[in-house]
Amino acid sequence: MLDTAIVGGGLCGVVLARNLRRQGRAVALFEARERLGGRILSVKDEESGLAIDLGPTWFWPETQPLMQNLVEELGLASIPQHDDGSLLHLNDADKAPERIDGKMLHAGAQRLPGGMTQLIDALAEGVSAEHLHFNHVLTDVSDRGDHVVLTFVAGDDTLEVAARHVVLAVPPRLLEQQVRFEPELDDATREAMRGTETWMAAQAKVVMTYERAFWREAGQSGNAFVTHEQAVIGEIFDACDGAPANAALGGFLALSPELRESFSIGLPLLMTSQVAQLFGHGFEPLAQHYQDWATEPFTCSALDRTSPRAEHADTANPMLRRAQWTGKLYLAGSETASRGAGYLEGALEAARRIDLSLNLGWAKAESGDGRQVTVLRQSMRRASRDFPAGSPPSRSWHSTATAIVSIAVWRPSRGSNSRSGPFSKPWKSSSTRRSRNWTACPSKSVRSRSNAAGHR
Ligand SMILES: Cc1cc2nc3c(=O)[nH]c(=O)nc-3n(C[C@H](O)[C@H](O)[C@H](O)COP(=O)(O)OP(=O)(O)OC[C@H]3O[C@@H](n4cnc5c(N)ncnc54)[C@H](O)[C@@H]3O)c2cc1C
Repeated sequence: MLDTAIVGGGLCGVVLARNLRRQGRAVALFEARERLGGRILSVKDEESGLAIDLGPTWFWPETQPLMQNLVEELGLASIPQHDDGSLLHLNDADKAPERIDGKMLHAGAQRLPGGMTQLIDALAEGVSAEHLHFNHVLTDVSDRGDHVVLTFVAGDDTLEVAARHVVLAVPPRLLEQQVRFEPELDDATREAMRGTETWMAAQAKVVMTYERAFWREAGQSGNAFVTHEQAVIGEIFDACDGAPANAALGGFLALSPELRESFSIGLPLLMTSQVAQLFGHGFEPLAQHYQDWATEPFTCSALDRTSPRAEHADTANPMLRRAQWTGKLYLAGSETASRGAGYLEGALEAARRIDLSLNLGWAKAESGDGRQVTVLRQSMRRASRDFPAGSPPSRSWHSTATAIVSIAVWRPSRGSNSRSGPFSKPWKSSSTRRSRNWTACPSKSVRSRSNAAGHR
């Protein structure tokens, strides 16, 4: 029988599998898709070779030590997000954009020029192919006393896997929607699962490549916000990788999942026109790379797709961190994290928590005199001291676009909680036709000093 079965091959599942394999544990990882990475998805632009992130792009070393350590440990190069130059704000479809100078929108954000998928590729090297099971869709989890049985649909087959411990590194809302538990999880846990938005799951992202970075030539950063009623892309940023020939702009769609679907045929043209209206005509994109996460059944639950975007909370509901079934079953993934929930950092934090819990259990079972247990308890305490509750300051980075109307760099004090941050109130659009916009900056965010229209 397996010692530990991990379900979900996103960052959380893969890093945990790699770490447990390193410790010599009998671990297998089961993933619904044909690939690892989950929300991490980088593609190569064929023409330029530019790595394009269609999922996460940024991490913030100043406040995300686990990400910073991992990038260093894996020896991956990182570059700062380009912010130099003016940013543009288009608030009226019939007018020219306003140019705003001197604001470093993403201050502190770093990117991996080779794409975020490098993290997954490097980690997966530590998990041999025989322990990775793709196209395995979890449907049932059942407590059998001293072990747990998982049921998967794998192509035309249904198969059962028994394991002493099970880690579900799958967004809680998806689990609640798609997986049967026997016995049923308690109501409070189910409620917490249902109430936890899968961060960014209902969003869509586009990256357009160009012959050259014409916006930089014009003294612009590439940052832009579109906040009028007809906005197609709500937020735009420079997506070059540092090589002069690799010019690209990235953006988050402003349209809701339903509107993206109904406009799907015209969407490429609409997105190109939006960029042209902002940065000037005469620069056609060489290629458009588009990913709509709302159409991904292994990322976006029905509830994520239809419910309004919630306020970002840096700390997930603690009900999601309770071990279930006398320590045999763990909920994991970024949406369960006590710090950095929803971010890559949260995925690493959740993996670390479960690694420590499993090791505590094994130490208890293996050690007669309890010595190892004490050592592990100490290391767990140390871990929580490293990252006390509410620290680092939560800065919900996907927040309000209207904040740029009057911008000031915000340097929140350490120890603040996201709910009290400047972005604690989600942006309320005057229109229901588009989804909310955000800025990509949890570490040094921007905020409105004036009564920016649209703020509650
Ligand atoms: C467009 C976008 C932009 C983002 N930008 C950033 C950013 O710049 N910085 C940042 O820190 N974070 C960002 N995020 C969030 C970040 O991507 C996530 O926090 C992180 O990737 C979550 O990792 P995870 O392993 O917890 O979950 P996931 O990556 O969601 O992994 C879950 C895995 O479970 C699998 N799965 C689902 N259902 C089943 C099933 N029934 N059976 C088996 N397997 C299943 C999925 O296929 C997936 O591989 C962004 C997300 C998106 C979508």
